[in-house]
Amino acid sequence: MQIFVTGGAGFIGSNLVRLLIEQGHSVLNFDKLTYAGNRNSVSDLESNPNHRFVIGDLCDADVVGKTIEQFKPTWIMHLAAESHVDRSIDGPSQFIQTNIVGTFNLLNAAKSYWQSTESVRHQFRFLHVSTDEVYGSLGADGLFSEETRYDPHSPYAASKASSDHLARAWHDTYGLPVIVSNCSNNYGPYQFPEKLIPVVILKCLRNETIPIYGKGENVRDWLFVQDHCEALLQIVRDGHPGETYNIGGNNELRNIDLVNSLCELMDEMHPRADGKPYADQITFVSDRPGHDLRYAIDATKIKEKLGWQPKQDRVSGFRKTVQWYLDNQSWWKNILSGGYQLERQGNG
Ligand code: NAD
Repeated sequence: MQIFVTGGAGFIGSNLVRLLIEQGHSVLNFDKLTYAGNRNSVSDLESNPNHRFVIGDLCDADVVGKTIEQFKPTWIMHLAAESHVDRSIDGPSQFIQTNIVGTFNLLNAAKSYWQSTESVRHQFRFLHVSTDEVYGSLGADGLFSEETRYDPHSPYAASKASSDHLARAWHDTYGLPVIVSNCSNNYGPYQFPEKLIPVVILKCLRNETIPIYGKGENVRDWLFVQDHCEALLQIVRDGHPGETYNIGGNNELRNIDLVNSLCELMDEMHPRADGKPYADQITFVSDRPGHDLRYAIDATKIKEKLGWQPKQDRVSGFRKTVQWYLDNQSWWKNILSGGYQLERQGNG
């Protein structure tokens, strides 16, 4: 398949592009290379003839339209977004531009292409990749299903909710074969060092304090990124246009328990020079405003309809992740030093 992937230099996108190419697909990787995009995350694919990298901004409707018309994708998998909740609180404007206006541009370009290209009309799919944060917060019980009412709280979640509505509207109004997926928190290789799991590992390695919001009681459902990517491929291939699929890891953890588990793994895999436990580095900081208490996904639909379920549990997934950050220090050191932003290259 010819697959147009947006955000393929980001965390999930780079893992997805690698999977698609391993499976023999041809990918055009469309990415603006914001602070969160990193060409080094796909440097192993640089000379692969099935990987074409285009630096482009979703907010530039002309570029989006022309790139799609030229590449002639069978599928579009839309991951590009501003994705960090804390940044959305400090500066929501770019979230509105990329997540809402950018998605609108992409849907419009996809519609024109799909309406005018008979050869791919029946196979064409537009997969809009979204988050469980659109559903708001749960109390101690309950799970988010595909029918849960939207109730976003942060500017990030509100912008993603808005883009989900646009994607569904382009299906319902114009018949564009759109599928929406809403996934829980991801972790694994190539995650930007500002997100919780890499923060913990890197703070351990750098002998710095490990900050936890509030009392660490917020609960998230953690999914290994490669499991998410396999779910996305299965959805775009076998899912039904107009449908939504929730994706989750069935792996709920309080932040404090997550951080303690990672510290214990680090004690085993990379002990501190003084022999003390890494948990000594934990410190509690003021809570994030509007911090949702609990997210948890009911992933019954994707399991029953498409036969997908995660391959990694928290033991294997966390171990793989810690090992990856230990083995790939040049990747994250280059981010922490800012060097990765100086290494942007022209369109390839
Ligand atoms: P990320 O921040 O790591 O990567 C986003 C990528 O999009 C970057 O490479 C960035 O350069 C690119 N980008 C940003 N603005 C752009 C623009 N205007 N034009 C083109 N490219 C642009 O994000 P991620 O964690 O990989 O998330 C990918 C998608 O999955 C997002 O849509 C996010 O909402 C969704 N999601 C993420 C998680 C998670 O836990 N990370 C969970 C569920 C859903």
